[in-house]
Amino acid sequence: MSDLLKLSLSEVTTKLKAREVSSVELATEALSAAKAAQPALNAFTAFDVDKTLAMAAASDAKLAAGEGGALEGAPLAIKDLFAVEGVSTTASSNILKGFEPTYESTVTKSLWNAGGVFLAKTSMDEFAMGSSNETANTGPVVNPWKGTTDGNLTPGGSSGGSASALAADLCFGSTGTDTGGSIRQPASFTGTVGVKGTYGRTSRWGVVAFASSLDHPGPFGKTVKDSAMLLQAMSGHDPKDSTSLPNAVPDFVAAVGKSVKGLRIGVPKEYRLDEMPEEIAKVWDQGVQWLKAAGCEIVDISLPHTKYALPAYYIVAPAEASSNLARYDGMRFGVRQDGEDLTSVYENTRAAGFGEEVQRRIMIGTYVLSAGYYDAYYLRAQKVRTRILQDFDNAYQKCDAILTPSAPSSAFGIGTKSDDPIEMYLNDVFTVTANLAGVPAMSVPAGLDSSGLPLGLQIITKALDEETMFSVGAAIEDAAGFNAKPEKWW
Ligand code: GLN
Repeated sequence: MSDLLKLSLSEVTTKLKAREVSSVELATEALSAAKAAQPALNAFTAFDVDKTLAMAAASDAKLAAGEGGALEGAPLAIKDLFAVEGVSTTASSNILKGFEPTYESTVTKSLWNAGGVFLAKTSMDEFAMGSSNETANTGPVVNPWKGTTDGNLTPGGSSGGSASALAADLCFGSTGTDTGGSIRQPASFTGTVGVKGTYGRTSRWGVVAFASSLDHPGPFGKTVKDSAMLLQAMSGHDPKDSTSLPNAVPDFVAAVGKSVKGLRIGVPKEYRLDEMPEEIAKVWDQGVQWLKAAGCEIVDISLPHTKYALPAYYIVAPAEASSNLARYDGMRFGVRQDGEDLTSVYENTRAAGFGEEVQRRIMIGTYVLSAGYYDAYYLRAQKVRTRILQDFDNAYQKCDAILTPSAPSSAFGIGTKSDDPIEMYLNDVFTVTANLAGVPAMSVPAGLDSSGLPLGLQIITKALDEETMFSVGAAIEDAAGFNAKPEKWW
């Protein structure tokens, strides 16, 4: 492998425009690197070499004519939750096995319009439910990072395949979806930048639904600038998604590198958990110091309902999931298991097609929405959600951005948490609040822990203020000077 794949998206698109490298050359190299890594990392669920090479050749033709978009010619990996026309799209679930959409999700269409080249589909937790990418029907994804640990680590989840593929330099950017942290937590575990914009900034159309009021499609980038370029291309109003924002998309890339002097950075006391590992507290304090040195004003803030966020999330998300997943009945998509009558076809199909975690969520969701329990659980969770939104509104009277750790640990071993759903759910403790409130949030690599594993810091800003998020993210990136890469063993 040449060093081409190590370049960032912004570097490689510059080289492509200068015609120093062709898209076909890049795509060919990325395909062979991805295929060579697949037995070890298991990050991919589908390739379509003809499609990749055709898109790359089309990009080369545009570049030769001096045309092309911001991402022209760069190979990108796509989470298996996004419909890509003619390519297997399964949400890493048996129930969607064999499904090849005849349409393209709005987000991937926008990426292709900006010149991105489809490289492969990436593995994920089944239907995006999970924090470790261990529930995929194709088996766990492996984190390219091992640090000094023995054995394989998870890349986090649910967008683990996209995070692993990018961290291993197998693509120049990738997509994820973040419903409770599924972009930011895997970004933190793999030393990549992971972003979700304001709710509605990126369209959900053509993205397999998990919990519609919480689902945020977003990018993984090698750098803050790369992630800004990707979010820029992915964002915009889509009449096909009724919750898509009509607002004009600001210039995210221009916000990268803008001075953060004078910005007020909120540090929420509720995020300082008793059981938080010391190394995470340390990197957080370090982040505060970096921003102070860059001229920010640090303010203590309170987000008093934080402790109710996780329980509320694990009611709202399964409730919406149980409703969204009702459509998988063996009639319209994927597999069907026969039975004696219609009801048993439904039951057999769903029992065989959904994995254990998905079935658990459907049961929880159905329960909290049922007559008699609706008020006690679902309605109450929605009220908590409003309080969390108010917490952020109040905090933003005092600050412009909030700084927290991205996740309560670094990458953990495959199999170490999969027996205990509650322990797995705790991974999202720092991330779910931003989904419940719909505000932009990102994870930026800030350092390595004593096992040599990446740790991320999270930046959360006001709705529609991704620009401040990117400016603060870039300031952290600059100060951290994080350029560690996993040692290649795959
Ligand atoms: N880990 C969380 C869950 O299991 C979040 C998943 C996500 O953001 N898609 O629900």
